[in-house]
Amino acid sequence: MSGGPAAVGPTAADWAAAVAAVRGLHADARVLLICHVNPDGDALGSMLGFALGLRRLGVRHLQATFPGPPGVPEPFRWLPGVELLVPQDDAYPEPDLVICFDAASESRLGDLADRLGRGTSLVLDHHASNTGFGDVNLVDPHAAATSVVALGLLDRLGVPLDAATATGLYVALTTDTGSFRFEATTPAVHEMAARLLATGIRPGDVSRRVFDTRPFGAVRLFGEVLGRATLEPAAADGHGLVWTYATRDDLTRHDQPAYVLEALIDSVRCTAEADVSCVVKQSGDAEWAVSMRSKGAVDVSRVAVGLGGGGHRFAAGFTGRGPLDDVIGRIRAALTGAVLTAPPA
Ligand code: 5GP
Ligand code: MN
Repeated sequence: MSGGPAAVGPTAADWAAAVAAVRGLHADARVLLICHVNPDGDALGSMLGFALGLRRLGVRHLQATFPGPPGVPEPFRWLPGVELLVPQDDAYPEPDLVICFDAASESRLGDLADRLGRGTSLVLDHHASNTGFGDVNLVDPHAAATSVVALGLLDRLGVPLDAATATGLYVALTTDTGSFRFEATTPAVHEMAARLLATGIRPGDVSRRVFDTRPFGAVRLFGEVLGRATLEPAAADGHGLVWTYATRDDLTRHDQPAYVLEALIDSVRCTAEADVSCVVKQSGDAEWAVSMRSKGAVDVSRVAVGLGGGGHRFAAGFTGRGPLDDVIGRIRAALTGAVLTAPPA
């Protein structure tokens, strides 16, 4: 039931094992939900939506957490279920069941990876690169978001949807499909969105809070960072690279938290002259969190894996170490010869 090829998605036995892991919990069982470091809308939305579903099932000892500093990015602070979040240091040291969301490998769980060996571990994810690190793995690389898998499990557990549960799952779906614009937006995605919206959630409110609200300081910061974007038409064997960077000093000068930089890639990737776009965000003295996007000529997941990270075909990332110029140089080099000659498997 575990460690099988992720390309095929969960088997009936995987689903049955996951249902049994939840149904078999004793009345005082402690359940710890974990999502990946620097959580995004899919990580938090899937986790908190699923958490509220578990609460409806009667799970009493329930915590949700993620590695790193405990602050939830402002766009997600209003999500139903945030009250279940605890700082990682307060997370159950010996949970009976651990459920991981949107993390392709243990390395994305930081210090919380040590909870995996304590009780049963259940992994819900949609990265093709998922290493199958749980006792039970529900990994569907064809799912547009981890929340598709989360809803699949809630359905099999017989949990009825309510607006609170649906909100997190919808935020996850709309985040990972780029508001229903990306390739992964299949008819099934719209059918799931229809089910979630039927609970009464308001998509206009969700979009405004998640995508369309940022402090004025961030608007000014974006102007500066976009103003120094560099276009390299010859990169990626002539398919083009556009990139920019933001330092911690940029954040300090504009008095902004780091999460505001997550939206930058969506402006950079609009560049018509480049297949590949990158935003390089300083995360330490000589450490950079790199976001990469592709329009299809390059599988950026392969490129990111080669640079120590991971992700999806059209959206991936890695942590770069050393001076900025070196990180950009490694990206440029990795893009040479990376253009797909046939669709990826
Ligand atoms: P983003 O650019 O939005 O941070 O991430 C895009 C995708 O790349 C996400 O689906 C995430 O899974 C993956 N990703 C981003 N950064 C890293 C990283 O440092 N390591 C790994 N393994 N994956 C990453
Ligand atoms: Mn995701």
